[in-house]
Amino acid sequence: MTYRGRFAPSPTGQLHFGSLVAAVGSWLCARHADGQWLLRMEDIDPPREVAGAAEAILAALPAFGLLADAPPLFQSQRLAAYDAAFEQLRAAELLFPCCCSRSELAASGGIHRDGRCVTASHPDRAPAWRLRVPDVEVAFADGLQGPQRENLRETVGNFVIRRAEGFYSYQLACVVDDAFQGVTEVVRGSDLLDSTARQIWLQRCLDLPTPTYRHLPLVLDAQGQKLSKSAQAFPLDPADPAPALRRALAFLQRPLPDRVMDAPGLLVHALVDFAPALLSHCSGDSVA
Ligand code: GLU
Repeated sequence: MTYRGRFAPSPTGQLHFGSLVAAVGSWLCARHADGQWLLRMEDIDPPREVAGAAEAILAALPAFGLLADAPPLFQSQRLAAYDAAFEQLRAAELLFPCCCSRSELAASGGIHRDGRCVTASHPDRAPAWRLRVPDVEVAFADGLQGPQRENLRETVGNFVIRRAEGFYSYQLACVVDDAFQGVTEVVRGSDLLDSTARQIWLQRCLDLPTPTYRHLPLVLDAQGQKLSKSAQAFPLDPADPAPALRRALAFLQRPLPDRVMDAPGLLVHALVDFAPALLSHCSGDSVA
């Protein structure tokens, strides 16, 4: 089976150092496996999106030497596939409508359990749709973070598949599209480690294959905060890609030569002696 990896940014801002690390890490794994590296623009959350960000991210990647093997998939064009998955879950009686607000769920730590709503259906509130989550433990072996297990009923409860505003959740769209793109391994930041059990459970509900997972260490700023796109702590300059790329590779503990190299040269160098085992040296979160 051909290895297929992917990079799946959300267009909530420009490419930032944390997402560059995820892009480089997933690219290295795909190239090392002689596989394909795919792109997916996760543009299904309009309220969080920034105009022009999708174009800026897609334009920046080639400047860093990160060339995909197929045109990018845009989630905004995949609504029919999410509708079909939603109907499949609904037909299996795995979904229920829910009008509980965040504040109404606060007493249970924001977790919706047992399929019982805090608030009854509301004539003037559109419902969100939640997945009924049983008392089940999901276990998987992360390629970098080691064995994981999570009882979804305890950690997240009945989670949202479609929001009250009508938008599909990241979890549903991600699972449907990882399967659609034939992704065999997901390499991404550790901030998404706690989404993985939900995604594996959804794959089982939808009869979709489960890829392997490899969660890279999280890039933190000097204050120990997750680097968010809004923080702009380490802006990237696609016109001068080598310094950020060198730094991303150093973060992934790739040995780098002292001599000056352009971005594609740095990537090729990192690939030559790349082995997945080396990536595993960098488990745990690290300060950039
Ligand atoms: N779109 C998500 C993000 O930018 C990543 C999704 C994923 O890699 O599964 O944080």
